[in-house]
Amino acid sequence: MDLWIQPCAACADLYGQPASKGPHDRLKLNNRGAEKDVRAEEHYTCVRCKAVFARILAGESHKQIWMLLNASQH
Ligand SMILES: [Zn+2]
Repeated sequence: MDLWIQPCAACADLYGQPASKGPHDRLKLNNRGAEKDVRAEEHYTCVRCKAVFARILAGESHKQIWMLLNASQH
């Protein structure tokens, strides 16, 4: 388990945005293929601050957002 990180400015901006917004340029798609929910969400890691995002692509529209998985939320 990674330590909790302090998100960089780009990640802090993206957190909570609609999933229809694209990833920022420091995010790399985690392409594991073994995720059971691979069709419903994509996971990205920031190469700058190591933030891990889930981009929710299914379900109710107001829940289709960018969620930070490993950062403290203020
Ligand atoms: Zn970042």
